[in-house]
Amino acid sequence: MKPIGPIPAWFAEEEGMLLIGGCGAASLVDEAGDTPLFVYDMGIIEAQIRRFREVIPARIDLHYAIKANPYAPLLARMAGLVDGFDIASGGELAMALDAGMDPSRISFAGPGKRDDELAAAIHAGVTINLESEGEGARALAIADRIGKVPHLAVRVNPDFDLKGSGMRMGGGAKPFGVDADRAAALARAMIDGGGNWRGWHIFAGSQALDPLAIIETQAATIDLAARLSDAVGTAPPLVNLGGGFGIAYFPGDERLDIRPIGVALDTALGALPDILQSSAFAIELGRWLVGEAGVYLTRVIDVKRSQGETFVIVDGGLHHQLAASGNFGTVVRRNYPMAIANHFGRAPETQPVTVVGCLCTPIDRLGDKVALPSVVPGDLVAIFLAGAYGASASPTAFLGHPSPRELLLG
Ligand SMILES: *Cc1c(COP(=O)(O)O)cnc(C)c1O
Repeated sequence: MKPIGPIPAWFAEEEGMLLIGGCGAASLVDEAGDTPLFVYDMGIIEAQIRRFREVIPARIDLHYAIKANPYAPLLARMAGLVDGFDIASGGELAMALDAGMDPSRISFAGPGKRDDELAAAIHAGVTINLESEGEGARALAIADRIGKVPHLAVRVNPDFDLKGSGMRMGGGAKPFGVDADRAAALARAMIDGGGNWRGWHIFAGSQALDPLAIIETQAATIDLAARLSDAVGTAPPLVNLGGGFGIAYFPGDERLDIRPIGVALDTALGALPDILQSSAFAIELGRWLVGEAGVYLTRVIDVKRSQGETFVIVDGGLHHQLAASGNFGTVVRRNYPMAIANHFGRAPETQPVTVVGCLCTPIDRLGDKVALPSVVPGDLVAIFLAGAYGASASPTAFLGHPSPRELLLG
């Protein structure tokens, strides 16, 4: 038997059926037409945003990193709820604009931006978070060619990283951003080259559950932004402090308490270095905003035994929910929280089962030796924490199965 991650406390049942946004899981499948299905509950996302607004100082804008979940109806709702979108491709630029986000509130990071993506971004007037000197030179040349002033920020590869981070993005040699010791020179070159200087983007890591680690990183980020700005001799209009707020996916994980982060930011904003006195600040979050709001529902096709073990085979798999299979940026495979949606709350059997997807590969394992109630074909398996890095972050074309359905509630 292996443990599963914690099922978020607000999920309840009615007559044994898991409720999502107040609706029974089986009727949601009927409404969507079939499994596999991602259901996103806007109410949970709104509650997270409220929590952020209550606790984090009002001077700090909330940006949504749309790669976490770019489902168009969800993006359209998010556009009215957050202060900006962070994008990472020309495709995401189109999605962000379609969602109605004001271009002046969009910033574009990501290594390897093509010329046509830079041109589209400059044309739209979004801020480009430059990832290298070469990209800066290309942005200026393209802006000159199309007769527009580019809005430019520099993404810094900080000389520290977010401790306990699930995915390290800063510290050491990285393909992301410009090393801190060259960032001021690039900023100066962009200003002298006629760019509209927007400031700094400093992203040190992702998926942290320790508030102290986040507080420490934010303090180091503000300090670095001030030092770089002093070196440039220009106040940055915006300092994007990165993100890193994690969610409790795995056994033993505890929900991140953001209150101490708010208190520390309040203190930091009260004692800002002179050069940052008039700057705006932003925090960019993906999974923390949307991850807990999603449930992946997949139907049991077969239950079979092999050498004393029971395998539950479902119609979904890693082609939709790669992260739950442990193949998306995790070192050790651990079980996401899961349940049988139509027997929610029922006591588990004593013998564990392994839940596998329908793909013909041994890595398509959604639950390894988990304790579940007795399962038969037709039952619905619910995998929680599926709101981020699900449908859009999985190899949907692999093996030619249909794409998952998606449904936004609320
Ligand atoms: C992916 C990414 C994010 C979002 O990360 P989460 O862990 O989903 O919050 C934020 N900023 C940048 C630069 C990213 O690449």
